[in-house]
Amino acid sequence: MTVNVDVQSFPLFINGKWEHSSSQEMFDVFNPATGQLAARVAKGTEADVDRAVQAARLAFDQTEWKNMRPKDRSNILYAISYQIAAHAEELAYLEAISSGGTVRRIGNSDILQMVDLFQTLAKFTLEYPFSETLPVPPFPGPAHNFIWREPIGVCAAITPWNYPMVIACWKIAPALAMGNTIVVKPASYTPLSTLKLAEIISNVVPPGVINVVTGSGVEVGEALVRHPKVDKVAFTGSTEVGRRIMGLAAGTIKNTTLELGGKSPNIILEDADLSIALPGSLFGVFLHSGQFCESGTRLFVPDSIYDQAVQGLVALTSKLKLGNPLDTKTDMGPVISKKQKDTILSYIETGKQEGATLVCGGKEVQVPGCEEGHFIEPTIFTNVTNDMKIAQEEIFGPVLCVIRYSNVEEAICMANDTIYGLAAGVWTRDVNKAYDVVRKLQAGVVWINDWHMLRNDAPFGGYKQSGIGREMGKHSLDAYTQVKHVHTSMVPELERRNWYGILFGQNE
Ligand code: NAP
Ligand code: MG
Repeated sequence: MTVNVDVQSFPLFINGKWEHSSSQEMFDVFNPATGQLAARVAKGTEADVDRAVQAARLAFDQTEWKNMRPKDRSNILYAISYQIAAHAEELAYLEAISSGGTVRRIGNSDILQMVDLFQTLAKFTLEYPFSETLPVPPFPGPAHNFIWREPIGVCAAITPWNYPMVIACWKIAPALAMGNTIVVKPASYTPLSTLKLAEIISNVVPPGVINVVTGSGVEVGEALVRHPKVDKVAFTGSTEVGRRIMGLAAGTIKNTTLELGGKSPNIILEDADLSIALPGSLFGVFLHSGQFCESGTRLFVPDSIYDQAVQGLVALTSKLKLGNPLDTKTDMGPVISKKQKDTILSYIETGKQEGATLVCGGKEVQVPGCEEGHFIEPTIFTNVTNDMKIAQEEIFGPVLCVIRYSNVEEAICMANDTIYGLAAGVWTRDVNKAYDVVRKLQAGVVWINDWHMLRNDAPFGGYKQSGIGREMGKHSLDAYTQVKHVHTSMVPELERRNWYGILFGQNE
């Protein structure tokens, strides 16, 4: 047994400083790969939320932060991107030891995505239409009219454990780009990288602009959503909690964006190049052990190539190497917790009981050197029907459901038969066929011959119960602004204001 020494402790991050929780209590964060203590973190309270909101309020209401010129704000976003690059190793380490994401992914993709996100929004900020002039109106008289886009105010971000650092940036970057201030509540399994991010961002933004309050969703999360001085809530997580947040936000009519669950359909057409479609579909479902909201968990395969495709999928899956996420040779790390592992295993049992055929995986795994970790074999079920529980509910683990179809219209119909609509995909050599399918799929993003290809300049978000609003791209800047219409009359003489006659008619 190894004994942990020098485990890092993280207080709250409020007003540019590390602050103790008013409760003085801490909670443990464990490494899901080893089961060992990774860090101790302050257990925030409602009083701490209030402190953080006051700091964010003050920075918004009483400083020049919101009035900064786009050029200066753009430079700040570039400066944040350089801070992230300079602290890449530490951020990647903190992310890996808490989320179980592999350093291979975090180092080669997440960090680069975050740097690029701040730089992309830095460019967009320079071009953003903060003020638009409208043409002279035909009625009632000559006037100058503008549309101004202004920050919303104090934003609250509530983030999940699966992809914590990047998802936090999807909210922090556009909020800051548009002149808002923010309080972030990271998931309790994975607060470390977000706390570090706040510290390094605060090297280049004034105190109070970014704050982090850690602690439970029910106490800290709900206090943020209810707080009358919070103007906007941006949430990523389960549809169930999203529903709760929407209800709570109604109390103060808060602007709310939600990024929720998914059960994304992936359709292989008969003419697809299987040498790409099969590894691509597995990349779509097993990356990060299936713990991405956009994972392609329902794979639709035509009768004519069904057996060949299943054989190929199983052969490729058997090559995946589970291991410690800190080892660059690891393909798949653990799932986040024992609780999540048990949930996934219970879905696998359900699949068997429902009559699906387990063709590979299905069990937990002991990884040498990580005996206390929460590992599950990449699992494939065939002969799944779309009405089964394993095909309808989000499992959030490495479980692929392969569903047979005989014609494309039937596949599209099943693909859309879900409460979710986050992502979808189609594999074919015929681009015209692809567009025809894409047009019929109900999802916020559709990939043709690929998966997981999110871009910082393109919007991401869900149709149906997968969410409201969009993150990334120019759409995310709109989501952190509100519009003001400004009218300037150009008619100084009362007698020319004939529209006043609508009220003062008898005086004419
Ligand atoms: P979750 O339980 O919904 O939690 C997400 C966040 O909300 C956490 O910070 C959590 O805090 C907090 N929270 C929990 N209960 C709350 C409440 N009553 N009021 C306010 N905040 C509350 O989701 P999760 O278990 O972390 O993540 C997995 C789910 O997220 C999956 O369903 C997945 O599909 C979804 N997801 C969606 C996207 C997307 O972009 N659409 C991305 C990633 C994940 P605690 O950690 O302290 O409980
Ligand atoms: Mg949860």
